[in-house]
Amino acid sequence: MRPLNEMSVIQIEVTNGCHLQCANCTRFVGHHRKPFYMDLAMVERALDSLEGFPGHIGLMGGEPALHPQFPEICELYRKKIPQKERRELWTAGYKWEEYKELIRETFLEKYIAYNDHSDPDEGTHQPLLIAVEEVIDDRDLMWKVIDNCWIQQRWSASITPKGAFFCEVAAAQDHLFDGPGGWPIEKGWWKKTPSDFRDQVRRYCCRCSAALPMAVPNNHEPYDFISPGNAKRLEGSRSPKFLQSRYRIADMEAIRRYASTLDGIPGPVRGSFLSHPEWTPWNYRRQVWNAPGEGYLTAQEVRSLQTGVLSREEAIRLRDSRMQAGTPEGR
Ligand code: SF4
Repeated sequence: MRPLNEMSVIQIEVTNGCHLQCANCTRFVGHHRKPFYMDLAMVERALDSLEGFPGHIGLMGGEPALHPQFPEICELYRKKIPQKERRELWTAGYKWEEYKELIRETFLEKYIAYNDHSDPDEGTHQPLLIAVEEVIDDRDLMWKVIDNCWIQQRWSASITPKGAFFCEVAAAQDHLFDGPGGWPIEKGWWKKTPSDFRDQVRRYCCRCSAALPMAVPNNHEPYDFISPGNAKRLEGSRSPKFLQSRYRIADMEAIRRYASTLDGIPGPVRGSFLSHPEWTPWNYRRQVWNAPGEGYLTAQEVRSLQTGVLSREEAIRLRDSRMQAGTPEGR
């Protein structure tokens, strides 16, 4: 695990609502009964708490532009972080046409991560709800694997309305399973080192599968892969996606078999394992986009694909015909 002050970005998550519903979403969109919207006073407090943090500060969701006060939030970012090059935005393109000038005024193009999921062959997500504790019986090995988690090594700590967390997926899991919340949002929380955040690691990581090497299903399926233990938790939390049967119990034997040669020895790049060099879930897109341009499906069509209304074959046919005609639609 990395100390938090070594992260290049810390996220402020202003909502966990999104107009899309990707399978294996890192924020578990579709599983929450009601999305949160962080109020402006808390956004301000979150920004203040990061005073002195040497890295960048992300504006993240869900889909941040879905927040009804998105313009005011952008204004706060400009006021509290005077250096434009320290602000970053993650968006799936909601209201892009309406907000693009505001977005460009607030964020440098290279720090806008634009991902509208509009290519049916792009964006595979590692399943996050196959609890590693249900796969690896050897607890020493399990903790070694968790310690090398690629998400903690590569992504961000984050702030949600429930507090500050060492890992953005841990933050989302706290909302999903009605956890006790994170640390108080006060100045300097980001100075915590692994020995300071052991409590959060123990609470969230065992139920997560980010660190576990496995074959990665495509993210445009209408369901998530989950383990039996997490199925019980999702049922207990009355997850809408679960109650709509939009999940598959993962083939635990196959996952165990794939992980059976794992010895926990880190590989040459962050979060990798020597035993599974083919497993690289951080390479989930061929190209990073900073504005629309990738896709040939509309947001409505992407959503239809993700909810099972449109089949993957139909989506690919649609994309291919538009590609041939040179008429991109994914805006
Ligand atoms: S195992 Fe999951 S909760 Fe733990 S650090 Fe990795 S992504 Fe975060």
